[in-house]
Amino acid sequence: MSLASRLAQQLDGVQITIIDNRTQHYYQPGFTLIGAGIKTADYVVSQTASYIPAGVKWVQEKVQEIDPESNKVVTGSGQVVPYDFLFVATGLELDYEQIQGMDASLIGKHGIGSIYNGPEAASATWQLLSGFSESGGRGVLPALTQR
Ligand SMILES: Cc1cc2nc3c(=O)[nH]c(=O)nc-3n(C[C@H](O)[C@H](O)[C@H](O)COP(=O)(O)OP(=O)(O)OC[C@H]3O[C@@H](n4cnc5c(N)ncnc54)[C@H](O)[C@@H]3O)c2cc1C
Repeated sequence: MSLASRLAQQLDGVQITIIDNRTQHYYQPGFTLIGAGIKTADYVVSQTASYIPAGVKWVQEKVQEIDPESNKVVTGSGQVVPYDFLFVATGLELDYEQIQGMDASLIGKHGIGSIYNGPEAASATWQLLSGFSESGGRGVLPALTQR
């Protein structure tokens, strides 16, 4: 988004296209504030549409395939988008399942917290932390309280 904005300001006579299927924009640094109970989950969520720079085309789809030999990308619906220059900025995808015994649905349960999976996970982490401080761990960490 930042790159598209800078290029749109500096270049004349070009067509800039952003391809991203996500309509909600997450202010990721704010996840820490949700996890600390300072902000609620909706604080970090806004609409991608409000950040698309003027003159930039937004294709609301996922890229399925990149064909660097014929300079084109293909979207999930099969739309072919040709390009002269392609910038790939897909962020990262978290794979909690790679941790043995873990999956994202466990966040907020059994003493497991993680703010990185999104606003709801950050909020569940705060619920867990505040519950822990209220209970002193009783019922949250049974193994510890039995000692
Ligand atoms: C808790 C936390 C705190 C942070 N604090 C800071 C901070 O204080 N300062 C700072 O500078 N940075 C901070 N960061 C890092 C910063 O938020 C990220 O570096 C930044 O958001 C990455 O931007 P990006 O565009 O590379 O990826 P993202 O913002 O993740 O965007 C990637 C986009 O690619 C799209 N996408 C993925 N695959 C496809 C596909 N196949 N087709 C189409 N679209 C696709 C996604 O839908 C997404 O919209 C923080 C991050 C976290 C999680």
